[in-house]
Amino acid sequence: MDIRKLEEKLKELGQPVFRLKQIQKAVYQDGASAFSEITSLSKDLREKLDFEMKILSFESVQILQSKDGESIKALLKLNDGNFTETVLIAPKPGTWSACISSQVGCPMGCKFCATGKLGLKRNLTSEEITDQVLFWRQYLKSNKISGNFSNIVYMGMGEPFVNWDQVRESLQILTDKNLFGFGSRSISVSTSGIPEGIAKLAEEFPQVNLALSLHFADDQKRSEIMPVNRKNNLESLKKSLQAYFQKIKRKIFLEYILLDRINDSRQDADNLIKFVRSVGNAHLLHVNLIRYNSTGSEFRASSRNRAQEFKNYLLKNHVGATIRKSAGDEIAGACGQLAGKS
Ligand code: SF4
Repeated sequence: MDIRKLEEKLKELGQPVFRLKQIQKAVYQDGASAFSEITSLSKDLREKLDFEMKILSFESVQILQSKDGESIKALLKLNDGNFTETVLIAPKPGTWSACISSQVGCPMGCKFCATGKLGLKRNLTSEEITDQVLFWRQYLKSNKISGNFSNIVYMGMGEPFVNWDQVRESLQILTDKNLFGFGSRSISVSTSGIPEGIAKLAEEFPQVNLALSLHFADDQKRSEIMPVNRKNNLESLKKSLQAYFQKIKRKIFLEYILLDRINDSRQDADNLIKFVRSVGNAHLLHVNLIRYNSTGSEFRASSRNRAQEFKNYLLKNHVGATIRKSAGDEIAGACGQLAGKS
């Protein structure tokens, strides 16, 4: 919802200042999906607002749900005809986490990623980013789905740090107590590895979690599959994480997609351990291992056994690691599968 536009509209209609707060609460916290639902407003005002404004800046054109009901993906049509996607995941029963997009497509070109294949179409505005959260709040309410909607992860389409102005504004909206009111610690921003972005996050939102999509701890492989590494190599990422820890002693998550025979060997694990040790504060670096989700590329997922061995080897070498359950695979809503199409 465009808050500034709403504020102007209410002024234009000669409404008292408290109206704005009333509407904000109904929309952001109670999940009202139309002004007509806000019965604390006069009928006349509800009709005027419904006629002149929309709560969401897009319409959902497809919703897919996994069989277990734990992942739901929405394809969203933006006002200019572009599409983006967002996914709602239940990481554990009774809790919901929204995975949101920051761009239409992505300029980073990671070879294993369906979004990367699209290239960048455009940045999303802060309104379009936060409306994805609003959308899920409305969805849970209108489908009478219970549970605590507690977490937001910027892990959908796009690289958040190349759209920082809008992502910054979206973080302000999500954490504003008069709007969504999420705690900063419930929000995670994931980057493919842009040191300037990591520094800005540490400076401006020290309580927001950082996740680094590392995937390779070898410059040659990383540069070949993740072009971002040609400019920001492992040495620069190491320095960036060290600078982060100098400011904030908080856990950083290293995302590591396991690709069969590409980055899942003993040597790859050794490289990863070496990288973690070189950063220092190893107890604050946690590796999330994710078995690859098929995106129609030449890559395959590591077997469960190889994934387990990789994890055990990291643990034996005192590197914290978890194999993350891949949510949303069957609806192509898992990590690296968002392609903005049905
Ligand atoms: S993995 Fe992330 S950064 Fe890389 S292309 Fe996909 S969306 Fe972009």
